[in-house]
Amino acid sequence: MANVEMFAFHIPSLEELVGVLQNGLKENFADVQVSVVDCPDLTKEPFTFPAKGICGKPRIADVGGVPYLLPLVQKEKVYDLNTIAKEMQLPGAFFLGAGAASSRVVGGNAELIPIVQAKNEKKPAVNRSYLAKINLEDGGCLLEQYSSKYKDCEFGLLANLYASEGLPGKVIEVKANRRTGEQNFISCMRKALEKYYGDKPVGMGGTFVIQKGKAKIHIMPSEFSACPLKTDEDVNNWLKFYEMKAPLICQPVLVSHDPGFDLRLEHTHCFSHHGEGGHYHQDTTPETVEYLGYFQPAEFLFRIDKPKETHMVGRD
Ligand SMILES: [Zn+2]
Repeated sequence: MANVEMFAFHIPSLEELVGVLQNGLKENFADVQVSVVDCPDLTKEPFTFPAKGICGKPRIADVGGVPYLLPLVQKEKVYDLNTIAKEMQLPGAFFLGAGAASSRVVGGNAELIPIVQAKNEKKPAVNRSYLAKINLEDGGCLLEQYSSKYKDCEFGLLANLYASEGLPGKVIEVKANRRTGEQNFISCMRKALEKYYGDKPVGMGGTFVIQKGKAKIHIMPSEFSACPLKTDEDVNNWLKFYEMKAPLICQPVLVSHDPGFDLRLEHTHCFSHHGEGGHYHQDTTPETVEYLGYFQPAEFLFRIDKPKETHMVGRD
């Protein structure tokens, strides 16, 4: 059994969160509309998830960490989402989030966009995850459906996961158009929560779509770096950055404040239906960008296999 720590988040009402997020986002976007709605059916386009919603026992897991990737990779760090679901006391959980692929399965490094309904006693797992890699032929993005090649639910090194029973229910809808500030969509939401709730940590997850515009996205190379990556500059020289176009379907995990678990406070991976995907940094078209998202506050945090030796490099 991996090292698992559990923590109870502060859980504001959805109505209170609407006000906090509305106020925070309007400092960074020209048009902002936050409200409580019924979660749309996420089995439909553009989401095409294996579960209808993001409700029911909402939880967040921070598994492993960047210290298993940098300065040098620890390839033995592999995890299984079916096991993680049990460790989060939610067998059969529906997962969304951001992580790295298992290199022993895919034969190298890759961005993983996890979208998985874990197995339960009655049903096998449904894996609708995507892998984003650098195309070795032209240097472009190669986005693959995980299940087109692999049958497992593994990942490697690190993942930030939002887990729920995957049920319909009330969620927070966030519409934010035309960016007027410097922060990205998720940082802006996270900082609004941090400012209002201070050292009472609030965790959220869900999904959002960049409906118009373009975004700065990175993909890790398939080859792990042979020389140690010691600074953010080293990491940025190793990563490959792209400008990808909407619509991009993004899976964010955010925590307003780290209560001492060496957390990655925000992490968002995206996919699309036009062959692009990876790790979201920021939109590059502030004047035309349109975000539409659905979020739910998490009840519990699970910190799984926290690295003993840590650092703050490569957390952007
Ligand atoms: Zn990432």
